[in-house]
Amino acid sequence: MVRVKDITALMERWVPRDLALEKDNVGLQVGSPEARVRRVLVGLDPTEALVREASRRRSDLIITHHPLLFTPLRNLNTSTAQGRLLAALIRSGRTLYSAHTNLDFAPGGTSFALGELLGLREMRFLAQQTRTYRKVVTFVPADAADAVAGAMATAGGGAIGNYDTCSFRTRGTGTFRGNAASSPSVGKRGRIEHVEEIRLEMLVDQRNLPAVLDAMRRAHPYEEVAYDVYPLENIHPGTGMGVIGTLRMPLSRAAFLRHVRKRVHAGPLRYTRGRAARIRTVAVCGGAGRRLLQEAIASGADAFVTADVHYHDYQDAAGKIVLIDAGHFETELPVVNAVVRYLRIMLAQSRMDVDVIPATTRTSAMMTL
Ligand SMILES: [Zn+2]
Repeated sequence: MVRVKDITALMERWVPRDLALEKDNVGLQVGSPEARVRRVLVGLDPTEALVREASRRRSDLIITHHPLLFTPLRNLNTSTAQGRLLAALIRSGRTLYSAHTNLDFAPGGTSFALGELLGLREMRFLAQQTRTYRKVVTFVPADAADAVAGAMATAGGGAIGNYDTCSFRTRGTGTFRGNAASSPSVGKRGRIEHVEEIRLEMLVDQRNLPAVLDAMRRAHPYEEVAYDVYPLENIHPGTGMGVIGTLRMPLSRAAFLRHVRKRVHAGPLRYTRGRAARIRTVAVCGGAGRRLLQEAIASGADAFVTADVHYHDYQDAAGKIVLIDAGHFETELPVVNAVVRYLRIMLAQSRMDVDVIPATTRTSAMMTL
């Protein structure tokens, strides 16, 4: 029997939850990780129409890009759209799970799916995501090393890509002398002690540092815990925002605009003229990507396809890059198929008998003439 947690574990091998922005709320929204799953419905927005589609198509698990819950709920008011949706989900026993900014920042995620749809080649991230890491080193008796490393890992230390509890250990000799007020867990006060210790080191995301240090101190047997925190300059590999790539053949601006409109099924496009008459290098960001405009210009791209562009952004782009707003829903929709494709492959590999289908409900509230 396949459960929700089996499917979400597969998702998180590709898009770990800790890739998401801190203010985002990705992962389980409503339902149970233990619930049985026979069919998964993948869509962009958690709406009542999508939940109706899930019941019509007998899908027990709904995976959406946009999360349903952001701010803490103070009540479940069923006269609001969100309250009705939550109640409908609970009543129907379906589970809702969201992969949002973690899906945006992962390789093969939202922007890669859009780039692929537009026929871009040699795609790479437009802006590499940098995360600040620290190296935490502590000195611990050999018999306590596992307990200390385990506590640090539980608090978020030692997580690298698809691996957790990553640490490095070297043996050495520690020395210390406790004063009259000390109560050493090894040796006697007033005497210089030599103790076999393990130098335990672990990579820690800056965001998790306070929790990891706290867990380390609690699990450590020493009264006075010796530890060092080193700053690192590592760039977290393999995650980023937006994508840049090249078209197989350069297109005139007009031909490129038609190409975008046709491929993403967009209505009328808003755009500004760039500098080049022909478009070859293209930057894209599925969804609201206006904050990447300067990166797109600096990258030398001829065009930048994204959504939710503001009035002044067009002025900033004029004469520099063909800036195109192709719609939030439209530029993110390609990722639905990317999720479906990924899950089908992974489920087949793991011999899990579960259907995965893309939603047909168009959840965009915007209409075009
Ligand atoms: Zn979005």
